[in-house]
Amino acid sequence: MELADLEAAFAPNHSKFHARRVYDSVYAQRSFDPTLIPEPIRDQYKTGALTEAEKYVSADGTVRYLMQLHDGKTVETVFMTEGSRDTICISSQVGCPVDCKFCLTALMGLERNLTAGEIVGQVLHVMQRHNLAPKSRTMNIVMMGQGEPLMNLDNVLKATRILIDQRGIGMGERRICLSTSGLIPKIEELAQATIRPRLAISLNASSEEQRQEIMPITKKWHLADLLETCRKFPLKPKEHIFFEYVLLGGVNDSDADAERVVALLQGLSCKVNLIPLNPGPGIPYQTPTDERVDRFQRIIMKAFHCYVRKPRGRDIYAACGQLKLVQLSSPTALSPTA
Ligand code: SF4
Repeated sequence: MELADLEAAFAPNHSKFHARRVYDSVYAQRSFDPTLIPEPIRDQYKTGALTEAEKYVSADGTVRYLMQLHDGKTVETVFMTEGSRDTICISSQVGCPVDCKFCLTALMGLERNLTAGEIVGQVLHVMQRHNLAPKSRTMNIVMMGQGEPLMNLDNVLKATRILIDQRGIGMGERRICLSTSGLIPKIEELAQATIRPRLAISLNASSEEQRQEIMPITKKWHLADLLETCRKFPLKPKEHIFFEYVLLGGVNDSDADAERVVALLQGLSCKVNLIPLNPGPGIPYQTPTDERVDRFQRIIMKAFHCYVRKPRGRDIYAACGQLKLVQLSSPTALSPTA
């Protein structure tokens, strides 16, 4: 709940002050005590609290959490730390209805949307486990876990407002980013929101035909129209759109592909993130060689900032496109503070 919702739930029998104490304990202190909530109200609402069902720690320090929801379903949340930068990758849906051919989550299909509470709950859990300070400039949130965030836009926007509220969690708006497969009407809706995450587009192809093969959703929302929508997207000062490009060996990673990507993105204020495929069971593609990745990056860099996303947590199925309920035989024992 946002503060105004909580105050409304407490009215008329309980004061705004009382509602604010609860808000403060959940979001600012993160030491929620349910007895603070008067009983009739407590019985009326569910909390978005999730419980940690499993935890896997990668050799590179990445931690993948399997979080259990109140109805027994599970989603995955990943914590990555590198240098002074901490990133929490959160899910927005249980499973995903978009059928990207390189992604393990796609094999699950959609089970349901997460509530705003369940989206924020993932962040609160990781913050608590890793003692993270949200007001620091080092903590980032990416909505790139399970799900297509724009198919759950209302809850994603509500969660974003809660995450940045300075009376509560207090994150910087610029530190939250969502990644979409390119749902054009929803990108237009996102553009209207006063408070919103930054936009990343999962591009993954250099032509309409190639994208239709890798991401069948393009049959409905065409690449040319998607880029046109991006050109019209109202950016805030110093804001860029990120384009994510999963490199599939021998499929979309040639020099000609890189040159076509440069041409497609002309005129956009953007940065490009290259993600060499993270392999998984049932995924029909190969990881490209390091030389190929390097060459592709050099071509893009002639026109745009371009980064290669290092694979994080591949050994525990925590890397991009690998989030699916993959149970490993020996989950790492829980430690009091990871
Ligand atoms: S890449 Fe994202 S949008 Fe595509 S199937 Fe996977 S989770 Fe869904």
